[in-house]
Amino acid sequence: MAPGFGGLPAAERDVDVSGRVANFLAELPPRGLARVRLGLKAFELLPFPWRFSRLDLNAREDYLGHLEKSTFGPYQDLLLMAKVLCTFGYAVVPAVKEQVGYEVTCALDGAVAVAADPGQASPAGTLGETEVPGSVEECDVVIVGSGAGGAAAAATLAEAGVDVIVLEAGSHFDSGSYPSDPMEAILSLYREAGLTIADGHPPIPIPVARTVGGTTVINSGTCFRAPDQVLEAWERDHGIDWAADVGAEYSEAESFLRVTPVDPEQMGRNGQLTMEGAAALGASGGPISRNAGRCVQCSSCPFGCRIDAKRAMHVSYLPRAVAAGARVRANVEAERVVVENGRATQVACRVAIQDSRERTSPRQSGTSPSTMAEHGGPALAGARAEGPTRPYTVRARTAVIVAGGALGTPELLIRSGLGGKAVGWNLHIHPACWVGARYEEEVRGWEGVMQSYYVDEWERERILLEATFTPLPFGGAWLLGTGRRHQEAMLGFGNVGSIGVHLSDHSSGRVRVGGDGSLRASYKLDRADARRIGYGIARAAEIHFAAGATEVYPNIGRIGVLRPGDAGRLDSIDPKPAELRLEAFHPMGTARMGPEGGGPGGDGAVCDSDGAVRGTRGLYVADASLFPTSVGVNPMMTIIAFSKRVAAGIAARG
Ligand SMILES: Cc1cc2nc3c(=O)[nH]c(=O)nc-3n(C[C@H](O)[C@H](O)[C@H](O)COP(=O)(O)OP(=O)(O)OC[C@H]3O[C@@H](n4cnc5c(N)ncnc54)[C@H](O)[C@@H]3O)c2cc1C
Ligand code: SF4
Repeated sequence: MAPGFGGLPAAERDVDVSGRVANFLAELPPRGLARVRLGLKAFELLPFPWRFSRLDLNAREDYLGHLEKSTFGPYQDLLLMAKVLCTFGYAVVPAVKEQVGYEVTCALDGAVAVAADPGQASPAGTLGETEVPGSVEECDVVIVGSGAGGAAAAATLAEAGVDVIVLEAGSHFDSGSYPSDPMEAILSLYREAGLTIADGHPPIPIPVARTVGGTTVINSGTCFRAPDQVLEAWERDHGIDWAADVGAEYSEAESFLRVTPVDPEQMGRNGQLTMEGAAALGASGGPISRNAGRCVQCSSCPFGCRIDAKRAMHVSYLPRAVAAGARVRANVEAERVVVENGRATQVACRVAIQDSRERTSPRQSGTSPSTMAEHGGPALAGARAEGPTRPYTVRARTAVIVAGGALGTPELLIRSGLGGKAVGWNLHIHPACWVGARYEEEVRGWEGVMQSYYVDEWERERILLEATFTPLPFGGAWLLGTGRRHQEAMLGFGNVGSIGVHLSDHSSGRVRVGGDGSLRASYKLDRADARRIGYGIARAAEIHFAAGATEVYPNIGRIGVLRPGDAGRLDSIDPKPAELRLEAFHPMGTARMGPEGGGPGGDGAVCDSDGAVRGTRGLYVADASLFPTSVGVNPMMTIIAFSKRVAAGIAARG
């Protein structure tokens, strides 16, 4: 895949790539590993009667080029998988970064940065003791999940005098402990090493975090309020009678998280080019508001903000909850919600016991190791069975709140047999794709903010564009070409600008739990939504060209590279779903709210409009799962606003 070109080292001959990738794969949970194995096997056998690994260099390049030009979706998927893995292992090699000129400045000394902003205390230590003290604890309200929803709910309840315990399956990291190696960071901070994939045509990766603070720890810090018309529709069509009345919740969150628009001078060239291109077309947009006041514009948000400039939940709402008396417990996987006499009273959990691997939190200390089987508790099967665990139960006097995110929440409800048949359906994800472009000038996207400028001109078509730079280990795989051509593209990475196309989807998917206990997600992108994404790709291409791009990469195999004057071509293209190469970062809707009794929008709703799960007293949901439809913009602030509302209701009812 990387034969060595233009001063770049050759994979295997000069630098070890397969070893790094193999080490990474060895850490994957069984289901993720099986999926990658199957893909690699197909990749190896596809040049039948030959095998890929036995072909000479030229034959390999021919074969890869053939896959790239193919209009057959699965070939494109295989190629992308191979490129993702290889680029990931290759782009982190110092000699590669040096040759590309790629350097990330986030290795800034955390202590210096914190001292430079005395208004923001160092987050270290503000979560208190995150280790589980024994085998049983008791509280008023137990919250499963410490992300946007769980953390905001915890702070709201704790400040109302409620005794709260927050359970989090992942470990606790912050500016003092994020792994600096991107591969290590992915393994430490993401669920299934970021390889959570919704099956379908095309398959769509939906990475989510698994760490204290949830996905906010690795997100881009972009803060939007939901469009008025979305909230009004939720009120009108889905019976959430307060949905359009969350202004106070938004305002409090914006003030506490110090949400401010990115300074156009500071956003970096990638955002500025989108701004210039949109202005030239007269398309409406603006600098993105973020919760990262001290940001040093290093574009490494997906690996944890090395200086915790980004006010993710573990350095904002969770410390606030702890200051008000809440307890946060890390490395605890809630296995089942226990119901007694129709009321949710306990959460049965497994606590991960620290092993020798460095990637577990430095704040953990183990107790006597044992295995699940030894304890004989309900089996944690498949992908979740990682290392030794011990049992732990939390008893809740008042309520259990499930806030495991739109994948984790239905997973837990299904495992517990709660919430009815509708749980897990209505998965919306905001399918997104990367539209890159080459500029004559240097862009050096890594010197900017990851998401910096939005274009909402095409909101009526349900398309939102965001200037989004993707760090080399991820973004390198999206560059066109294979072999030497791909290496040439990598050398030009400093001249690449990129725009993310996000669709507010009507298409939907489903979350299930497989027979082996592992999470299964699927998603069916319909033709109309595929067409809309194609429309968004065309608009992004126009913006790139208006800003001076010389080539645009629409990421549709049969279209290849677009050059100035070609953008109109895209409008006549009607991409089939399987032709699109997509990712998604905003899962939502899998335990949606709706009125009782099947009123407007009530059919298939899992929760009442106060967040209560139908059919079980004392059980609530407070995260992205609640949304009845796609929210249309980056969802974190709306999740926070809704969770605060659900939690305030629980506190008021006592
Ligand atoms: C790369 C990336 C960039 C993003 N950028 C932005 C952005 O800039 N702006 C924005 O608005 N949104 C962004 N998002 C999305 C946003 O971060 C999420 O929508 C939001 O964090 C979801 O909140 P949540 O509470 O629903 O779930 P999460 O934040 O995902 O939190 C759920 C937590 O629950 C834990 N959990 C799940 N099940 C269990 C269990 N059984 N036991 C114990 N713990 C459990 C998980 O480990 C996780 O930590 C981004 C997402 C990604 C992946
Ligand atoms: S770009 Fe992201 S990771 Fe870098 S300082 Fe800003 S918020 Fe932190």
